[in-house]
Amino acid sequence: MTHYLITGGAGFIGSHLADALIKQGDEVTIIDDLSTGRFENIQHLVDNPRFNFAIDTITNEVVLDRLASMCDVIFHLAAAVGVRLIVENPVHTIETNIMGTEAVLKVAQRYRAKVLLASTSEVYGKGNRIPFRENDDVLLGATIYNRWAYAASKMIDEFLGLAYYQEKGLPIVIFRLFNTVGPRQTGQYGMVIPRFVNQALNNEPISVYGDGKQQRSFTWVGDVVDALISLSGNSGAIGQVFNIGHLKEISIYELAVLVKELCKSSSEIDFISYEDAYADAGNFEDMQRRLPDISKLNELIGYQPTLDLKEILKRIIDYHNPN
Ligand code: UDP
Repeated sequence: MTHYLITGGAGFIGSHLADALIKQGDEVTIIDDLSTGRFENIQHLVDNPRFNFAIDTITNEVVLDRLASMCDVIFHLAAAVGVRLIVENPVHTIETNIMGTEAVLKVAQRYRAKVLLASTSEVYGKGNRIPFRENDDVLLGATIYNRWAYAASKMIDEFLGLAYYQEKGLPIVIFRLFNTVGPRQTGQYGMVIPRFVNQALNNEPISVYGDGKQQRSFTWVGDVVDALISLSGNSGAIGQVFNIGHLKEISIYELAVLVKELCKSSSEIDFISYEDAYADAGNFEDMQRRLPDISKLNELIGYQPTLDLKEILKRIIDYHNPN
């Protein structure tokens, strides 16, 4: 039995990962400050003797040290996430992402725990060589656009993780998540699919930002969780960076149309300028396309996303509208 520590374990992806690890018979401890995570996401696990939790921040060194000392593998998912949150709370974003990762790597090194470090497709920034490959150059916007602070903070996390691997021999795997979706994701921090689904189910206007021609590819959270568990058990992954995503793109306008149709909604589709969408939109730039090359992950663990967007949306709609 392996004992896993999941930072950010009450969050959307972290809680699904905890479910899967408990299901396969392992022991799981999570730490989450419930800033964007929710206790409801883990409520059903608290009576399980193989599940432990601490509601605290990962920068509480005493607590993190104690938890790490009991674990074999750490999934570090705690981070400031969601474009709205990032744009509106840049200090919190930078501090959480950099200081949090520093704290996790330090304790992992102390107890020689393996670390799987969450990064993001945002690190590819405005790169226009599509699809994005792990070793591509990155092109971020100017520092006055605070959206890029998130990418830069995650790049520092990657550098630091790889430095611990190279200099101190700490076993570390870095994964860059592309848009990941599923039940428990909330629209509160700006994520497009839960927002569109809630708007459509309530027959409220669906808010397409900009001209809606920007594209994204969406991955089912269960596929991401399976990939994370495979990566954690594969020694060939150590010291490497992997994209995790889906190859099928859709424009945000087409997404709005599809969500509306699947919800049998009478919602209008509204176009909202970025100025109106974000409080600090003068400092905002969106990305037009964001598509991963997933061949590296496929070659190592045979990764292939199992669900297409329509099926993913149906499951998310059922979650939000159980009747
Ligand atoms: N978006 C939108 N309406 C919303 C929320 C988001 O049109 O209510 C757009 C957003 O501008 C971006 C895309 O949907 O182009 C995906 O946004 P999200 O925040 O989910 O993820 P991102 O890919 O930006 O990290």
